[in-house]
Amino acid sequence: MTTISTIEDDPALGRPASAGTPAFPGTEPDRNCPLCPRLAAFREATRAREAKWFNAPVPSFGHPDGRLLIVGLAPGLQGANRTGRPFTGDFAGDLLYATLLDYGFAKGIYQARPDDGLALIDCRISNAVRCVPPQNKPQPSEIKSCRPFLSATIETMPRLCAIVALGRVAHESTLKALGIRSSAAPFAHGAVHQAGVRKLYDSYHCSRYNTNTGVLTPKMFRDVFARVRADLA
Ligand code: SF4
Repeated sequence: MTTISTIEDDPALGRPASAGTPAFPGTEPDRNCPLCPRLAAFREATRAREAKWFNAPVPSFGHPDGRLLIVGLAPGLQGANRTGRPFTGDFAGDLLYATLLDYGFAKGIYQARPDDGLALIDCRISNAVRCVPPQNKPQPSEIKSCRPFLSATIETMPRLCAIVALGRVAHESTLKALGIRSSAAPFAHGAVHQAGVRKLYDSYHCSRYNTNTGVLTPKMFRDVFARVRADLA
């Protein structure tokens, strides 16, 4: 069941952002960002082992003028970390992009590679943590270190009015980026939190584990985007 809570917006988020694409200063980390020593070491080890993979902080995908921002957890080792595009190349991307295509937030054919020509419509995808973490588990200090890039991404989307957080970590980091207390907007699949002119929509992460265990069904996931689509019509 959908719940709606009201939370205060951060006035700072209303400030105008420059036009342009693909990135504004502060939105994309350096390829060799050193802020998380554990993740930097993991990145280097993966570069040594898989020289043809992307193996760097994965940039956001989609134009900053989009009204919808999807925030994931972090790149998957053999997904975005390999291909260089969020949610591209692993199971989570299959469900996410199929859903975005169905609801008009993408066009083209998703072929699990960054040169497949798929384009996002009115939508952008980013991650709470830009570097692949071992076992898909970033540490709290790493989520905190990467938050300025998420904050900058949010702040430089002048038309942003809908954010879909995929999973609790993305939800919590997005709340902090928005300057909102966790207690004011508890995570729950299907919850919608009003934040001034914006809404934050919660979904369980579309990971293979969540779908294989039935925590998240394709219908549950589609229902979240159906709600977003209706609100952005
Ligand atoms: S996760 Fe973010 S802050 Fe940490 S090293 Fe990667 S880009 Fe830098």
